[in-house]
Parts: sequence; C-alpha cells; structure tokens
Amino acid sequence: MTVSPELKALSDIFQKNGFSLYLVGGAVRDYVLGKPSHDYDFTTDALPMEVKSMFRRTIDTGIKHGTVTVLFKGGSYEITTFRTEGDYSDSRHPDNVCFVRSLEEDLKRRDFTINALASNVQDGEIIDMHDGLSDLKNGTIRAIGNPMERFKEDGLRMMRAARFSAKLGFSIEGNTLSAMKALKENIRNISRERIREEFFRLVDSPFPRMGLEAMEKSGLMEILFPELWETRRIEGHGYHKENLYEHLVLSLEAARDLGAPVTVKLAALFHDIGKTATEKRDGDKWTYYHHETVGEEMARAIMTRLKSSNEERDQVCLFIREHMFLYSPLWSDGSVRRLIVRVGKENLDNLFLLREADRKATTALPEEVSDDGLKERIKAELSSSAALTLKDLKINGKDLLGIVEKGPEMGRVLSLLLEMVIDDPGKNEREILLEKAREIEKR
Ligand code: ATP
Ligand code: MG
Repeated sequence: MTVSPELKALSDIFQKNGFSLYLVGGAVRDYVLGKPSHDYDFTTDALPMEVKSMFRRTIDTGIKHGTVTVLFKGGSYEITTFRTEGDYSDSRHPDNVCFVRSLEEDLKRRDFTINALASNVQDGEIIDMHDGLSDLKNGTIRAIGNPMERFKEDGLRMMRAARFSAKLGFSIEGNTLSAMKALKENIRNISRERIREEFFRLVDSPFPRMGLEAMEKSGLMEILFPELWETRRIEGHGYHKENLYEHLVLSLEAARDLGAPVTVKLAALFHDIGKTATEKRDGDKWTYYHHETVGEEMARAIMTRLKSSNEERDQVCLFIREHMFLYSPLWSDGSVRRLIVRVGKENLDNLFLLREADRKATTALPEEVSDDGLKERIKAELSSSAALTLKDLKINGKDLLGIVEKGPEMGRVLSLLLEMVIDDPGKNEREILLEKAREIEKR
C-alpha cells in the first residue's frame, strides 16, 4: 500500500520507540479492492499505556479493549493493541481481552480471511497470513481456521458473513456456510442490538439480495425474520409475476437504485408482509384487505424486537401504513392537504421513494401510474398560505376563552376548526372560526 507522509511520520514514532504500527481489517481489504474506506483501524504491539506515553494528545476511546485515539499533526488515529479474545463461554461477546505482542495472534482471532489482512505502515507491505488476498480475488467469504469453532466463539459472525456478502457481492465458502447452517440456533444468544447493526448494514449494502440469500440458505432468516420467510408462500395471483418474497427483494433493490435511505429500504423489504395474514380467496380473486395496517403492526414488532430507535421504527411503520393510497387527479385540494398533514411534510419525499420502488418492482402493472401530478399539487399547497397546523389558524386557545372550556375540550375544538380549514382555507377567518366554535359548543 502507498503510505502518506503523515502516516509515515506516525509510524516513525512507533519505530523509534521500538514498536510497529499496522493498518488492519476493512481499510486494507477495501484498498486491495480499490474501494474507498471510511474508517481506518490501526493495530500495534505497544500496550495502550505505551501508546499514550508516545504522544502528547490521546483519547481513551476504548481503553478496556485496548483502543486509544492519537491526535497527531491534525489527524486522528484509532490504534488498538494486538489482542486475543479470552474464553467464549456462550457464543456471546468475548468475555475478556488479552493483549499480546504478536500480530499473528491478533489476526487469528478475526472473523474472515478477507478481514485479516494487515499492512505495515513503515513500508506499506501487505501481510496475508490466511490467504485473504486470494479469497478477495475470488470473491469468497471464508472463516479463519475452523468455521464451526469460530461461529461457536461468536454467533454474530454468522450475520456478519451475510452482511459482508451483501456489502461486497461475495459468496460464502461451502464449509463456512455449512457451519452457519449447523449453528444457526446460536444466533438466539446474540444481543438484538448487535444483530440489528449487522442487519441494517446488510439492507443498506450494494448487494442486499446476496446477504438475504445467505440468511435464507443458512436458516438465519427463518429464525430472525419468520414474517419475511413466510412471504415466499404467497403467489402473485396476477398482481405480480413473482411470489411475494421476490417482490419485496425487488422493491428493496429498486429503493437502492433510487438512492433511498435505510428506513425506506427497510420499509421496501417489509411493506407487504401483512399479506401473509390477510390473504383471502374471493371466487377467482385473491384479496389482501388492510394488509398495510396489519403489515405496519408486524413491522413494528420486528423493529421493536431489534431495539431500533423509536424514530426509525415510527418512520418505517408510517411508510408501510401509507404506501397503498391510489392518487387520482379528481382528488380535492382538501384531500391533498389532509395527506400532507397525515404523513408529515418531512416524510413525503421518502414515502414517494417507497411508492416508486414498489411500482418499479411490480412487473405486472396494468398501466403507467405515477405520483408526479400529486407531487406538483403538494408543492403548490406547501407554497400557498393554506393552514396545515394549529399554528396556522387565525385564532388560538386564548381567543376561545369564554366560548370553550380550557383543557381537553379546547384541544378538541381547535382540531375540529383545523379540519374545517384544511377542507376549506376560505374559512380561516377570525370571525368565522369564533362563530363555528360557538356552534360546536352549543351542540
Ligand atoms: P466496514 O468497512 O464494513 O466497517 P470492517 O472490516 O471495518 O468493515 P467492522 O465491523 O468495522 O468491519 O470490524 C473491523 C474489523 O474487526 C474486521 O475487519 C474484523 O477483522 C474484526 N472484527 C469485527 N467484528 C468481529 C467479530 N465479531 N469477530 C472477529 N473479528 C471481528
Ligand atoms: Mg469498520
């Protein structure tokens, strides 16, 4: 690897003190693949205290695991002492770490051969102790050493194999995949947060289909996402050429091609899972009434299980709930404004991305459908002065004191007034609103 003058200067300091500095893991892998890398992990034989004593400014980023951040000539470098991981008692997180002085030991505890490349920062020489370079060339994900042992040590590595397959478009080597099949049940011991991290990254990768395929073949999908696994038994029945599972994967791929954020991609993958629970046969027609609301609840359960943030969960659920509506130019302006209010201004673009991905993935569409007309009308509504929130009403609670009681009743009347104004902006006049409030109270 070529070494920049800054890195060489950093490495010189290690050298002067009798230590070595290596770049390791993803950055070396990505360099060999000719891809840009977003994070650089360094590793060294120096102990954390020794690293700290060599530099004026350091941060104890993950001192327990041996990681120190060194601030040097305007750059910041995460440097971790060579380590092995102690007893793996229950295929969970390693119980403890031991610092060691040999690079070989450090590389041996890593997950896959392609992730166990190191580069000496002094001269850029690439160190390849596990044939990672040939696996990189052949597009193979292969566990280091005995895959059964490695997955028993840490079951998350099975999800990581699927995630790297999705990230790089690589296939999983036969023995490694067999070990995943044999040990799939161990995934139940892994924390939901760690699974979520790998799964979201899989979904957000360039080749999500390959990662999902690895999850299917290993049996991880059936264990972790039975809702998704079930969709393969739902046929297209004239709405789609493919079965439902294939439609969901095509939707995810379409969302990727549209450059959608991960929440839209998750919604694309899950948007029709409600069909498994709502499918009914009506003569020669198949129906899926309310699959969007049933699917929303299923997706909420999945996102909750994965301990996703409330914000991500609510967005995915909203997109799924709202993905179905059929726009027609006959919609009133009031309907357009109600949609804006229901979905929220800030979510509209993403909802349209999901709808477009869904359409792109629908190979049996009877006619050209598009949201373009609706988008234009939304733009017009947003730039008009039409009221969309309570703030936009020409009166507030204070104006209604004397007509309406403070408290929940006030809230109720104000939202009725807002509804009226969303339907007919002409009624957003102080006098009209006061009159209407009196009328509501009289009833
Ligand atoms: P990315 O660019 O996608 O982040 P990465 O290779 O940097 O890829 P990380 O998850 O950030 O992946 O992990 C950094 C390195 O740490 C890996 O390359 C691997 O060598 C090692 N590693 C991470 N997690 C594990 C694990 N569970 N078991 C063994 N080694 C691991
Ligand atoms: Mg990384």
